[in-house]
Amino acid sequence: RVKVRFAPSPTGPLHIGGARSALFNWLYARHTGGSFLVRMEDTDRERSSRESEENILAALRWLGLDWDEGIGAGGPNGPYRQTERLDIYRGYAQQMLDAGLAYHCYCTEEELTAEREALLAKGEMPRYLGRCRNLSPQERARCEAAGRRPVLRFKVPAGQTVVVHDQVRGAVSFDCDGIGDFIIMKSDGIPTYNFAVVVDDHLMGITHVIRAEEHLPNTPRQILLYRALGWPEPEFAHVSLILGADRTKMSKRHGATSIEQYQELGYLPEALVNFLALLGWSPGGEDEVFSPEQLKELFTLDRVAKSPAVFDLEKLNWLNGHYIRQCPLERITDLAIPFLQKAGYITGEITPERYARLKSLVAAVRDYLSNLAEITQHVDIFFAQETPPVDDEARAVLTGEQVPAVLAALREKMVALNELDEETARMILKKLPRELGLGGKKVYMPLRVALTGRTHGPELYQVLPLLGPEKVAGRLARAAG
Ligand code: GLU
Repeated sequence: RVKVRFAPSPTGPLHIGGARSALFNWLYARHTGGSFLVRMEDTDRERSSRESEENILAALRWLGLDWDEGIGAGGPNGPYRQTERLDIYRGYAQQMLDAGLAYHCYCTEEELTAEREALLAKGEMPRYLGRCRNLSPQERARCEAAGRRPVLRFKVPAGQTVVVHDQVRGAVSFDCDGIGDFIIMKSDGIPTYNFAVVVDDHLMGITHVIRAEEHLPNTPRQILLYRALGWPEPEFAHVSLILGADRTKMSKRHGATSIEQYQELGYLPEALVNFLALLGWSPGGEDEVFSPEQLKELFTLDRVAKSPAVFDLEKLNWLNGHYIRQCPLERITDLAIPFLQKAGYITGEITPERYARLKSLVAAVRDYLSNLAEITQHVDIFFAQETPPVDDEARAVLTGEQVPAVLAALREKMVALNELDEETARMILKKLPRELGLGGKKVYMPLRVALTGRTHGPELYQVLPLLGPEKVAGRLARAAG
């Protein structure tokens, strides 16, 4: 049975790349009927925080990526925070030391730097050459007496080639001689990433490791550790980098990178899930809109791309706009209200009548939104006292010779009304051109500009009831001069 995991380091919020890794693991678990585990790799104590952990977990929940085991979910293989598992790592470290698979290294920072520089000067890969591999008891005693605290290094077998059979990238070979004995336990008794990840993935029964491509060079090290410990290796799948539109690695320069930021801008989780799924995966074909249910059904590792994925904000906006238009009006209204409150368009209690009006407002403008934060740019026409023509094009519309008659005709109808619903507005508007003996455009364009100041925007039959007869009449009078 498939078991996958997401193992973030809680050193910041959940970013696009991390979310994509989590999503691919989740989709793979759900597709195969396997399970999905979340653990925290928090051994970098200085950079890790509970706040980041909370942020990451909240973002996963918001995206709808539920997990079956791990932090918050519990399970038989806990604890699920690496800093709470230190005794476990120390036990295996001791076992490796006793079996002669690892050794204490007393080299100082200066010695290591000198070695690295010497290798670089010769044009070789910097690596540890094994100076402490065969220390005599006397040499060891001298280091201990000098107060040096050792790290534990793994003895990388010489002359071997490690082949990673990656489910995405195929067979990738690494020459052990280029690796050098690497540290598995630091001098403060904290395991390194490569060691802790192997111990955890093994003890937690992980069958498939799906993660970012940047970890590919770590994989031969991890495979060597599995072999040394006599443990079966999981399958590996390394997912390509995410690039910005300029084809450089996605970073803050490219705009919002954390999931939280997209949430705050009013992106819908299902839009983001759809978008992230297509960052490096595709089911083939032309379709680009997939619900989480469809994704679960379609997701397989053999359709994960080897080439880098490009983060295309326009596509995300397009998808989000699609979901905004498609989703139940009430949900979009609820999501939009905080943005309207923050912008000061609505204050105080939202009574049922007010809520109904807000729903009509959202219905009128939702077609124009690619995220909910944008709603504030589209509603000023309903809240402002008046909206003079915004540009020359709009102003020109009001100079037509038929305009005074058009404005007067609708105004007359408004003055006679106390209330106005969409149905009535539709009827009035439909009849106007015939009554005036004019073409539709000659009638509707000036009305639109007189009422909204713009040549584009929501349907007039939605604008009229939202403004109400009194405001409509007022704006028509002002536009008539
Ligand atoms: N803590 C690692 C990271 O966030 C996990 C890598 C892995 O999945 O093995 O990059």
